[in-house]
Amino acid sequence: VLIPRPETETLVETVIEHLKDSPQSKIIDLGTGSGAIAISLAKNLRSPFVFATDISPDALRVAKENAKTLGVDERIEFLCGDLFEPLDNKNLKGSINCVVSNPPYVSKDEFDRLPKEVKDYEPIVALKTDEEGISFHRRIIEGSLYFLKKGGILALEVGLGQANKVADLTQNHTDFQSTEIKKDLGGIDRIVVSHKI
Ligand code: GLN
Repeated sequence: VLIPRPETETLVETVIEHLKDSPQSKIIDLGTGSGAIAISLAKNLRSPFVFATDISPDALRVAKENAKTLGVDERIEFLCGDLFEPLDNKNLKGSINCVVSNPPYVSKDEFDRLPKEVKDYEPIVALKTDEEGISFHRRIIEGSLYFLKKGGILALEVGLGQANKVADLTQNHTDFQSTEIKKDLGGIDRIVVSHKI
């Protein structure tokens, strides 16, 4: 699995800030990997339930073990498949309070320049994407509309220089409003949050 990075703490904190007063939030975490996001939310919110998907069965094995060790396996359902695909027949239309994801966002050129420790030892499927780096963000923005309730939030981690492009994708959508960009601990625009109308 991808080793969780400090910038993802900002993503988790942003979601907690938005949902901390709502009990029984339903959340979708796409590309859960080690389960770091799903597990942190399951532990820190008031009786939440998280649907966590990943295309890699190996990653899901690690995520399930982590959830069990940390005592939140009853609050998370892990499902294997591509983004929202394993959720299609679960009757979740308009019922989700938050869609969250740290999807792959490293463009092909950037991938070639990554340090050996990352390139040779971490899963490519968790990192590498298209030329522009935001093809997963596009698909998640489109797909999230079906699942989110009115007032629900979409929270996405983005790479260096991608925040404005991803924010524009939500702002160009009439179903989203109040898009915000948050900086990570290193001062880089890292999280895009938007609200479904
Ligand atoms: N932040 C990670 C890195 O720099 C990338 C994570 C991702 O693609 N979601 O390696």
